Formats: sequence, structure tokens, C-alpha cells
Amino acid sequence: MSLVLYNDLTRTKEKFVPVREGCVSFYSCGPTVYDYFHIGNARPFIVFDVLRRYLEHIGYKVTFVQNFTDIDDKMINRANAEGITVAQLAERFIAEYYQDADALGIRRATVAPRATEHMAEILDVIGKIVEKGHAYEVKTSSGDSDVYFDVRSYAPYGKLSKQSIDELEAGARVEVGEVKRDPLDFALWKAEKPGEPSWESPWGKGRPGWHIECSAMSSKYLGETIDIHSGGVDLTFPHHENEVAQAESATGKPFVNYWLHNGFLLIDKEKMSKSLGNFMTARAAREKYPPLAIRLFMLSAHYRSPINFAPEGLEQAAGGVTRLRNCWSDLLYARENRVGDGDAASFVKELKALDARFYEAMDDDFNTAAAVGVLFEIVKLVNTWLKKDRLPVAFFDAAESQLRKLDDILGVVGIEKSEDSEAAEIEGLIEERNAARKSRDFARSDDIRDELLARGIVLEDTPQGTKWKRKLA
Ligand code: AMP
Ligand code: ZN
Repeated sequence: MSLVLYNDLTRTKEKFVPVREGCVSFYSCGPTVYDYFHIGNARPFIVFDVLRRYLEHIGYKVTFVQNFTDIDDKMINRANAEGITVAQLAERFIAEYYQDADALGIRRATVAPRATEHMAEILDVIGKIVEKGHAYEVKTSSGDSDVYFDVRSYAPYGKLSKQSIDELEAGARVEVGEVKRDPLDFALWKAEKPGEPSWESPWGKGRPGWHIECSAMSSKYLGETIDIHSGGVDLTFPHHENEVAQAESATGKPFVNYWLHNGFLLIDKEKMSKSLGNFMTARAAREKYPPLAIRLFMLSAHYRSPINFAPEGLEQAAGGVTRLRNCWSDLLYARENRVGDGDAASFVKELKALDARFYEAMDDDFNTAAAVGVLFEIVKLVNTWLKKDRLPVAFFDAAESQLRKLDDILGVVGIEKSEDSEAAEIEGLIEERNAARKSRDFARSDDIRDELLARGIVLEDTPQGTKWKRKLA
């Protein structure tokens, strides 16, 4: 079997074949950091974290980029309301993001770029789009200009959301203050308004539109054509459609090979959203429910199906987590107290069959719902064996390594990594970094350093070799 993913670009399941053998470039749209994120936002963070873990597990070197949108209208309004700068607001809610995301077991991205730190790249892409004749400048009364993408000049527009330009035109809205030739056109660059942060550009002072940051940062860190780009289904149009138009008109190359979108988290049959006011922050949710239960709840549905956020669902997940954790602690306890002779061959055989079903589920468009089902079947099998008075070492070895492995991918059992196994993993990465430096692959060696830094591990190159230590908080 090999991994198959449902690609929104073709609306079919396709075999996953990355651009570079053995490597995956993966961009996931991140949060706008003007507030705490809600439990609906947590859905893409959790499900794509699992896809990333799975890709790593099956042997890919994954470069996972998730941005922080740290400049837009919401950022500006909230900063003004609080009497702080947009940069201070971003700093605060990036820190809050990590508090919640770390607690939910969402592994940190390889790179977590911020829009405001990539103005040069953003201006560069806009310049290319203008040069190719797909964008135009409109002077505003202040003398600075807006720059708009000219949708009618780009024939494939609509190919991701499967709408024709004419259909889209019918539903297009013009926002106050926008002076564009066509209601479908969207801002790449917005002229400075009083009281707003701004940057110098060839079109005068201003700030970037929302969509351009993802095109610019994706190609900076992952190259012009990437393997996977993900986000919630609401991002398909206009955000991702616009990202495609920007990137492909600038480079002339395909921007993304596999587009993945998660379904909505609903509350009372409605999309949970900030604007509707029907949201629960991830912070509040994890005060109410164990973080592992929140993860299990999200993974118990297929990522493309809608799910309803209701107390019963969360309570059921919490019960599930208790079963998983009890199984793990019973195993450890039994190994301490009830090791005996005997044969575990039939256990190992059944486990193998379940293990194969786990991979089958994950290979089928990472069907975590089915994979979680298999995990519970494994727990049931282990629990049946745990009823015996004496159990052979081979049973414990097989059961423990199976549960560790699935927990490493799904992150719902909460098995602590032993310090030894973490140390071995870090040493392995250091070795890989040394090899990369030897072959002058400095991009890779820097990536490894950043990846470790994101996990709080600092490297120090000494004449005796590379040493590592934990960064003090
Ligand atoms: P935002 O900060 O609004 O751009 O959202 C961050 C991510 O959360 C995006 O990928 C959105 O598509 C996703 N998202 C927002 N609301 C929901 C929801 N109710 N269910 C699932 N995903 C959502
Ligand atoms: Zn984006």
C-alpha cells in the first residue's frame, strides 16, 4: 500500500508522489494572531499535525511551514482597541498560540514565518506579478498606491474552487475604500492609511494584502512548487484560489500539487467562528476537557467531514482516553509484577493484522477515524491478554512498542517519551546535521538546528564535536 490523498484540485484521491523523493514540502495556513484561537481553528492544527507525523513516520523528511498572519485589519483594530502596537499584539498572541498548541500536542512547525518579517519576499512576488501584466496600480488620494491582482487577465482563475470567473463575478463584493477595475480583483498591496503600520514599497507606503504572504513565504521556504498545502475548507475560496493565482502567475509553475482542506467544526449545526460569536477558545476547552480528549475527539472523525462540537462528544472522548491510558499503565504494572513463561505468538500474529489495518486506514487519505478504531481494537486485544496471570516478555515487548508507535503518530495516549529515547533521537539529528554540513547542504543543516531549537534544544559546536543542551525557559 502507499499513501493516497484526496486532492481538492482534482477532486479525487491520488497516490501521493512528492516532488523530491523522500522529502515532503508542506505548508499549512496558520492563525491570525489577534486573539486566542478557538476550538474550530484547532481542528486543522491537530489533523494536519497528524498527517505530518504520519509522513515522518513512514520515512519522509518533512519540512512543515505554518505561518503567523501578524498584519491585517483585525490585528490593527485589536491593537488600537488595546492601545498597544500591532507588533506587541502579535508577540503576545504568538506566545499564547504556543501555550495552547503545545498543550494540545501539536508539534512545532519546522519554520513558523511571520508576514511582517518577509516584506522583501512579499514585494518581490508582487513585483513579478506586476511585471507579467497580472496586476495594476491605483493611486490613492494620499499619493501612495494600492496594487490589485487583475483576475480577468489570469484565465485559470477559479480552478481550485471550481467556479468560472463569470459565476464568481455574480457574487463579488467591493469593500469600502477599494478602487479596483473589477469587483473580483483583490489587493496585493494596500496604500497606507493614517494610524496603520506601513512599509516602503515601489508603490509608496503601505502593507500587504492577506493572500500574498502565503505565496511569498511558501516559495521562500519550500520552493516554487510544493507538495502539500492545507487549511480549513473556508480557505479554499478566496484565500487559496488567490494564492494559486498569485504564485502561478509570478512563476509560471504549478504552485501546489496536493490541496487538502478540513471540514468545519460545527456548534449547533453552525460553523464555529469568531464573527458569529459561537466559539469556545482552545484555552477554555482545555480547562474543561483533557487535551488528549480534545485530540481524540478531532481524530475520531474523518478530517474532511464536518464534526459537531458538543459536550457528549467530548465526554465520550475523555472516556476513550481513560481506556487508552489505563491499558498503558496496566501494561507497565503487569510487566513489573507478572512476567512469566509462555508463548505470545498468537498475540503477535493478531497484533500484526491490526497493525496492517492501521496503515491501511492511514494510507487511505489519512483516515484517522478508522485508525482510531484500530487503536481501540488493539487495546481490547491487549486487555484480554492482561487478564492472564503470567505473561511472556514477548507479549510486553510487542504490546508496548505497538502502543508507543501509534501514540507517536496520533498523540492520544500520552505516553511520555523516555529521556533515553529522546536523547537518541537528538543525537541522530546531530549526526544528520554533521553529514549535511560535510556535503555542504547548509539549508538542511540549518533546518535541523531550527527544528531542535523549536523543541528547546540548543546546539553548540565545539572542537570536540557538537554538544546539545536544553534551553532554559
Ligand atoms: P483563521 O485564523 O480564521 O484564518 O483560521 C485558522 C484556520 O482555522 C484556518 O485553516 C481556517 O480554515 C480554520 N477554521 C476556522 N474556523 C473553523 C471551523 N469552525 N472548523 C474548522 N476549521 C476552521
Ligand atoms: Zn494562507
